[in-house]
Amino acid sequence: MTEAADLAPIREAVRALCANFPGAYWRDLDRKRGYPEEFVAALTKAGFLAALIPEEYGGSGLTMTAAAAIMEEIQASGCNGAACHAQMYTMGTVLRHGSAEQKARYLPGIARGELRLQAFGVTEPTSGTDTLSLRTNATRDGDHYVINGQKIWTSRAEHSDLMLLLARTTPREQAASRTAGLSVFLIDMREVTGKGLTIRPIRTMMNHATTEVFFENMRVPADTLVGAEGQGFRYILSGMNAERILIAAECIGDAKWFIDKAAAYASQRVVFDRPIGQNQGVQFPIARAYIGMRAAELMVREAAALYEAGKECGAEANMAKHLAAEASWAAADMCVQTHGGFGFAEEFDIERKFRETRLYTVAPISTNLILSYIAEHVLGLPRSY
Ligand SMILES: Cc1cc2nc3c(=O)[nH]c(=O)nc-3n(C[C@H](O)[C@H](O)[C@H](O)COP(=O)(O)OP(=O)(O)OC[C@H]3O[C@@H](n4cnc5c(N)ncnc54)[C@H](O)[C@@H]3O)c2cc1C
Repeated sequence: MTEAADLAPIREAVRALCANFPGAYWRDLDRKRGYPEEFVAALTKAGFLAALIPEEYGGSGLTMTAAAAIMEEIQASGCNGAACHAQMYTMGTVLRHGSAEQKARYLPGIARGELRLQAFGVTEPTSGTDTLSLRTNATRDGDHYVINGQKIWTSRAEHSDLMLLLARTTPREQAASRTAGLSVFLIDMREVTGKGLTIRPIRTMMNHATTEVFFENMRVPADTLVGAEGQGFRYILSGMNAERILIAAECIGDAKWFIDKAAAYASQRVVFDRPIGQNQGVQFPIARAYIGMRAAELMVREAAALYEAGKECGAEANMAKHLAAEASWAAADMCVQTHGGFGFAEEFDIERKFRETRLYTVAPISTNLILSYIAEHVLGLPRSY
């Protein structure tokens, strides 16, 4: 499966932008756990984060394949798109399920970069992967909802104006079905910070601007509800394929970065009077990582093609995410090994990218959950949970 040649200019443009944000920029932020504001502003100004917003709302109306190419190039350039990837796809829930009024109010501002929709609040400390057990609840009170509860790992909440939030509106035991009773809200955090909303950063092994978020009698207007009350789980699921495909593309970019670094180093590092890459013991792991990356890349392309054709792509999106996350992690490990001691030196950027790419077999969905999806939904095996 080859890629359409017309993506070459987009790829080149992303590369050119990323060249202004070299390793030293990311190293400095990594040390102080800083947010890459200049990088995100540059991507926004160039319109890359509005790739999937239709032209009628001021976006570029590009395909999923083009959006995936953007994310891949960011990572392959050594940058970190995790600082802003949600701005690209979280709006999909509003686009597909929001009212005409909500779309007109929010999407043009998001496309222009005046409104940041970077925060996505699903995971909770007690329920984890079991989303249907989440406890954050929203109770209708006249023209408002009152929200109480807690989210964890809500990334970029401190660098976002809006948050897409999943909360329970009908107690689980009263809900019409197992998946009913959850609702999606588009919260304007600027209105409620300090008035029921508290955000606390969590320091993690890599620079990721993630947080925990507390809701205490937080009142939000009733028109922050997206779509129909009680249908939120379905809405969130409908956005997950886009998320998986785009993050899989990021992993492909990471894998390419590690493979390029390793191949270049193995060709020029001389030990025992020969380039280390002349030894098959060094060559083969690089070739193996390349093969793994290419196989994953084909699945990412297939998933993106099905997505943009409007076809069912749950299995392909999950498999793409799984293969790509494994490929990037394998390439990261190989790259450290190829560099020997220098793989651990901060100035080579490898240890930083190694930490960053480790995330993707855990988040936004962990490997086991993908395997159980394939086992149950594709292979028809009995449900395990
Ligand atoms: C840096 C970071 C950023 C994140 N950003 C966001 C964000 O912006 N918004 C958001 O909502 N969430 C976010 N997450 C949360 C992320 O999606 C979850 O961490 C991930 O889905 C795993 O959930 P958990 O941590 O609760 O693990 P748990 O659900 O506690 O699972 C722990 C382990 O047990 C395994 N497991 C659990 N149940 C089963 C089972 N039935 N069968 C087999 N294995 C099982 C899991 O696969 C996992 O390996 C982020 C997480 C991290 C670390």
